[in-house]
Amino acid sequence: ATEIRLASRPHGAPTLENFDIVDVEVPRPGVGEALVRNLEISVDPYMRGRMSSAKSYAPPYEVGKVMLGGAVGEVVESNTDALRPGDLVLHGFGWRSHAVVTPEQAHKINAGAAPREAYLGVLGMTGLTAYAGLTEIARFQPGDTVFVSGAAGAVGSVVGQLAKLKGAKRVIGSAGSAEKVRHLIDDLGFDAAFNYKDAPVAEQLAQAAPEGIDVYFDNVGGEHLEAAIASANVHARIAVCGMISIYNLTEPPAAPRNLSQIIGKRLDIRGFLVGDHYDLQAKFLEEVAPLVRDGRLKYEETIVEGLRNAPQAFLDLLAGANTGKMLVRV
Ligand code: NDP
Repeated sequence: ATEIRLASRPHGAPTLENFDIVDVEVPRPGVGEALVRNLEISVDPYMRGRMSSAKSYAPPYEVGKVMLGGAVGEVVESNTDALRPGDLVLHGFGWRSHAVVTPEQAHKINAGAAPREAYLGVLGMTGLTAYAGLTEIARFQPGDTVFVSGAAGAVGSVVGQLAKLKGAKRVIGSAGSAEKVRHLIDDLGFDAAFNYKDAPVAEQLAQAAPEGIDVYFDNVGGEHLEAAIASANVHARIAVCGMISIYNLTEPPAAPRNLSQIIGKRLDIRGFLVGDHYDLQAKFLEEVAPLVRDGRLKYEETIVEGLRNAPQAFLDLLAGANTGKMLVRV
């Protein structure tokens, strides 16, 4: 078996030296436990936060210990009637080839309804994040003009498409390459999209949204958030989901500098964590699973082969190498 441990905490951008890839004995399941062979693991931006020791909503990974994250796998041995060999399960013990779980720690998934990988992305945590943020936090209404950053990523691509399907007037996305911009418009049905590396975000957003925006779904923070505040209409709602542009900074970010506009525009800016919104999961699956099944909501996955390549896949995720959900096939 193989596991990936945190070797050291990054200062600024993480590097491969921050990870240790270690060969270990296959763990044995105890009474009431099962052994799962992991098939795919998730790499996610929030893991950057857990690599540092700063106090945050999720506890830091411990140096020298195997890292944690979402995974899907197959039960290969079981000492509990609740899990049978052959069952496919979703659980939180990624970054390793084999995991020992209790039935409470593993959710059975129905691979007949959707490919198992989808439960790590569009029908899993990132899909629910998009759904909860758009509906509950940004309180999306038909007719809204919606701007989403990180739009070609796992969360952003679902936000933009859902907004469109729910009757947005106009959906605008930003992403970091010309190919991603093309993908947003041609494949995912965005009305407008721009490459934030081409010119100042505020200028490009103002051009793409001449009548302003009613909702901003923030995955990026910094200059993007400043631009969204500048383009926001009165009573606009901003759902703050992530700020990936600042995760590797060692100094406080330079933007946003225009927070005083919150007052006159009566902006509602709310941060949220998907973990608080699992009460919406049944509703989310009921609404979104059929859209995925019949192809009205498209999803991409960028799948890297081999657990040993997971650290590189994580670095590549932070650098924007993924379109849609970044996964590692064990
Ligand atoms: P993505 O699939 O969107 O992957 C991350 C993307 O971020 C990259 O592909 C890259 O795309 C983009 N990026 C990297 N650096 C920058 C930068 N400096 N400026 C702008 N874009 C950048 O990841 P997820 O969909 O999993 O996550 C998206 C966001 O949602 C993250 O901020 C994450 O932390 C947050 N999140 C929050 C949750 C919550 O509960 N609040 C739950 C899940 C995710 P590009 O090529 O476009 O630069």
